[in-house]
Amino acid sequence: MKTLAEIHTHWEQYCPCELRKTTRAVFGVGNEKATIVFIGEAPGKKEEETGIPFVGAAGRFLDEMLQSITMKRDDIYITNIVKYRPPNNRDPLPEEKDACKEWLHEELNAIAPTLIVFLGRHSMNHFFPELKISDAHGKLVIKNIPGITTRYFLPLYHPAAALYNGGMRDELMRDFKKIPKALEKITSTAS
Ligand code: URA
Repeated sequence: MKTLAEIHTHWEQYCPCELRKTTRAVFGVGNEKATIVFIGEAPGKKEEETGIPFVGAAGRFLDEMLQSITMKRDDIYITNIVKYRPPNNRDPLPEEKDACKEWLHEELNAIAPTLIVFLGRHSMNHFFPELKISDAHGKLVIKNIPGITTRYFLPLYHPAAALYNGGMRDELMRDFKKIPKALEKITSTAS
């Protein structure tokens, strides 16, 4: 099994994503033994500048929500579906998601978290194209996915989408608080 450092070094050199030609990769960061992995969409401007995922306004909101469940960045691992910033912060294209897919899957299997939390519809639809975020948010999904060891998934609204939308923000904060209970439930059913 490759280490995360080996995975990042490999894909930084060989990732077939077109965006690699014009911008630098933003690797996933955090605890290599995390029980929870958060998956966002793609880096934004601040993330591209610093090389760290979720450091802009959405990232600060995420930190606030982590605090609300007495967790911090060091407890979790956080990454994106697409490792490169799309120009003008447009949505990542299907071919960009596809090109970064093996990188993401290797990352996930190196950590083998108990729970994967999707931040927004792009990350959820990568694994569950049939789900709608407006219905699926806050509900635990249990499913075997070929090539992925984790079988528990929690879709959430994206913090950037919820940041300036009062109703969605409240929903996201409520959903976020379900994370500890979901973990508890998974661990108790698994043992
Ligand atoms: N939004 C994302 O989806 N990912 C980041 O890293 C930052 C903002």
